[in-house]
Amino acid sequence: MRPAPSPPGALSSIQTPVSDFAQTVKQQADIVKVIEGYIRLRKSGAQNYSGLCPFHKEKSPSFSVHAVRQFYHCFGCQASGDVFSFVGKIESVSFPESVRIVAQKMGIPLPKREFSSPEEAAEARQRTKLLELHETATAWFEEQLRGPEGAIAREYLTSRGLDPKGIKEFRIGYAPDSFNALRDRLKGMADDQTLRASGLFSSKEQGDGTQGNLYDRFRKRVLFPIANESGRVIAFTARTLETGEKAGAKYINSPETPLYSKGQVLFNLDKARTAIRQFEFALLVEGQMDCISVFLRGIQNVIATSGTAFTEQQVAMLRRHTSNVVVNFDPDAAGSNAAEKSIALLTEEGFTIKIVTLDGGLDPDRFIRERGVEAYTAAIRDSRRQSDFLIERARQMFPGASADQKVKAMNYLLPHIRRMPEAQARAQFAADAAQKLGIDSAVLREELRQAALRRRDHVETRVTALTEVERVLLRALAISDPENEDARRLAAQALADQPAWFEHLGSYTALQALATRQARDPMEVVDDQAQRALLAEALLAEVKPPEASEVRGAIQEIQERSIEHRQRQLRSLIAEAERRGDFAELALLTQQKLELDRTLRQLHGHRPPKA
Ligand SMILES: [Zn+2]
Repeated sequence: MRPAPSPPGALSSIQTPVSDFAQTVKQQADIVKVIEGYIRLRKSGAQNYSGLCPFHKEKSPSFSVHAVRQFYHCFGCQASGDVFSFVGKIESVSFPESVRIVAQKMGIPLPKREFSSPEEAAEARQRTKLLELHETATAWFEEQLRGPEGAIAREYLTSRGLDPKGIKEFRIGYAPDSFNALRDRLKGMADDQTLRASGLFSSKEQGDGTQGNLYDRFRKRVLFPIANESGRVIAFTARTLETGEKAGAKYINSPETPLYSKGQVLFNLDKARTAIRQFEFALLVEGQMDCISVFLRGIQNVIATSGTAFTEQQVAMLRRHTSNVVVNFDPDAAGSNAAEKSIALLTEEGFTIKIVTLDGGLDPDRFIRERGVEAYTAAIRDSRRQSDFLIERARQMFPGASADQKVKAMNYLLPHIRRMPEAQARAQFAADAAQKLGIDSAVLREELRQAALRRRDHVETRVTALTEVERVLLRALAISDPENEDARRLAAQALADQPAWFEHLGSYTALQALATRQARDPMEVVDDQAQRALLAEALLAEVKPPEASEVRGAIQEIQERSIEHRQRQLRSLIAEAERRGDFAELALLTQQKLELDRTLRQLHGHRPPKA
């Protein structure tokens, strides 16, 4: 049902329930748990966790999560925010959608109205409907596989070494030889437009340019569901059981739909992610059948690219779980091409890669079925470093000891060497290549050396450092519990009364924003990136909020510093007035300086002022 159009001025009454609900979800959600669902986190302090940032490339963790204050901050790329902004960013969804996702993760029931615009509501409704259609279709295909018509498919699956347990685990199904069986099953669930958007159906363009009636896209094919990272089916791969001319393509896939984009899914990641983290590497194979076969024999950290080269989104998805990949691609030429592209991208993104080569040129599925899981595990254990693999490949492609062949082999290797982000790895690769290819020419050696030097390492820039007093004040102003309200009020009051004392602090903008923040979240009120980084730094180092006495001490120190600052100014003004012989000015400035000296002495408890 479409929500009624809102009268002018009714905006707030629509948005209030949204933010109320978001607030409830935020209070109940554990940001550490939610983020851990996407990336690995390690405890790094009393209340905080750190890990590799999912939003930029990095080798050492600069991404932090504060368990109590419920925010994340990356000191590398300055990504920052609360649980909703994290989910929104990583899943590329709108705010209402991320509220919904977090609520679902936490098992919080959704209210009737949770969207800020009718478009968003419609989009979310369509996604929900498309997921329902896919779920129903999956169950229906499974049912068809078990039925009499499915005999041909069952036979095929048995021949591929799949037993009923494996079939059930991967929810493999069968689309019967019919143009309308699935359509008839689903037509009561959604309108024509939604059915069309599902990608489960095809239609022919008519003479007048419109699309004709829908008919089943998948016919007489074995259906392998493709799930998103949460395990919901979003698309299918279908293998034909037809032979001869009628067969068409051996495999066809769902088209791109609002649910499914080929470059944004890693087959089996939903099932493999726990094992990937446990074993600290992912086994990457090309085909879905390879993946299923290997997984069902107990090697559960396996995922598949589905035959095409990796996209950046896929690399980013994988990075959330591991930065180690063992690649076992098909040995055939086409496979090697996509394999090389994927490996190149993974290398550029700083992954550590090892390559498995299977005896007899077998693909993983056949190898594990013919030789057994132990032989396969041994092959994974014997996987070679990527550099060794590439050098070996260069030697095979350009055999012989002639200078010409060596140049060719080197030209093949150089781009691979340059691609590696780490200088040490490049130097090692270059040295290995020189040695194994038997390169003795000084010119070639120099080229290798240059390739190893070429790439500049990423230098991380940090914002200005915080002083201890600033830390105390930032933490005091971020207080939200009534128990420590005194400390917060003291700091806010000082900032309001004596802004001049604070003006020269590096974190002045953040301090000011916090002092007037009212009930809002500390991290939310600071807009400036660099300022937010300072606040994050102070809060992440926090064990408990500061006491009122600490705040008083910090304010006093800042007052002293500001006086000292003014004293220095006065000293140079006095010297200037003396040079000019301006005695009236001199008397005035000296008077001011004496007053400051007195104040400072009082502050210091009658100690003489600092020089
Ligand atoms: Zn980052």
